[in-house]
Amino acid sequence: MSEVAYTSQKHRVQVLKALLWITLIGGGFFAALNLGRQIWLLAALEIGYALFALFMLCIVDRTRHLQTWTLVFLLPFFAIMAFAVLLPRTSLTVFAWLQAIPIICYLLLGLRLGFWMSLSFLSVGILAFSYRFMGEDPLLIMAILANVALSSMAIMLFSHIYERSRVDNERRLIELASTDTLTGLANRMKLAEVFARERSHALRDNTPLSLIVLDLDHFKQINDQFGHDGGDQALRYLSDLLREGLRETDLVCRLGGEEFAILMPGADLANTVERANLLREQLLQSPLSINGSSHAMTFSAGVASLGEDGQSLDQLLLIADRRMYEAKGGGRNQVVAAGQQYSLSSVSLPGV
Ligand code: GH3
Ligand code: MG
Ligand code: MG
Repeated sequence: MSEVAYTSQKHRVQVLKALLWITLIGGGFFAALNLGRQIWLLAALEIGYALFALFMLCIVDRTRHLQTWTLVFLLPFFAIMAFAVLLPRTSLTVFAWLQAIPIICYLLLGLRLGFWMSLSFLSVGILAFSYRFMGEDPLLIMAILANVALSSMAIMLFSHIYERSRVDNERRLIELASTDTLTGLANRMKLAEVFARERSHALRDNTPLSLIVLDLDHFKQINDQFGHDGGDQALRYLSDLLREGLRETDLVCRLGGEEFAILMPGADLANTVERANLLREQLLQSPLSINGSSHAMTFSAGVASLGEDGQSLDQLLLIADRRMYEAKGGGRNQVVAAGQQYSLSSVSLPGV
């Protein structure tokens, strides 16, 4: 489940619980009232429904089918509401519940389903309400219906706008929280989220999953030579190169400073070493140009694979990081995997 869907689900569980408590208390109260007024059928429906709300309260935190249960709850909820609105003996104020329909639908079902459910049930509710005034002065009926319809539609429109901006804001916040601001790459939080998903795919399909940890060599010299802005430019340059040199399914992440991680679903240790070396060569052959002078950059990298090097992200990061330091110790500008060093070239670098 995506982060947005997960947050929306938590939000909906809260709203549903509030509605269930209101149903339980309101259902009990109105059932007692309608028993007193001898409206037996409605009272029986209300008692049955209050008990159903109690059952829903017991399962709502555990269910994996929240939307289905929400629909199972809402359909009779609105049907009872329409029935109450239709009955000439119930209070006229029952129509106030009609106006809660769009709010309930949008908060619990989201934009698309919320829209269709609101539209359908509001139409049924308004028709049922108008049935009470059959035979009255047509002008009066029109005035009543226009009031109910317009106010309900206004609430539906506001609910729609509210839900749309809530989802947009939620998405933007999650994106901000999972993005590195300097490079626009994923950050550690995003890496952890994607790793969890890719790990379960890899275990289910028996496919490899590997991780590269890389760190720019002598990055401090770039900062010293070109200033902090020059250093930032170098970090963005490397980020673009990594992003462009990898597949859509790979995830490039900035761990911090000049250290990056790349998660590669479907790639075993050998494939990953090969990809890391290609990127290393590519970086070496495309020197960065800052203020008119060009500067070749290199990185040292360590590689780890799910299974042979560990089962968790922390374990893989630790092993890959350790290997990256082995690569530094071995002279930099190289890739290390499983205790071996792999290097396509051992070029001595100007200015590094
Ligand atoms: P090594 O080859 O051993 O990795 O050496 P190095 O110089 O790359 O590593 P070191 O850890 O000594 O220096 C990293 C420098 O990166 C120090 C720090 O000021 C700089 N740095 C960290 N984050 C940023 C950043 O966001 N922007 C810039 N411009 N510099 C940064
Ligand atoms: Mg470094
Ligand atoms: Mg570093």
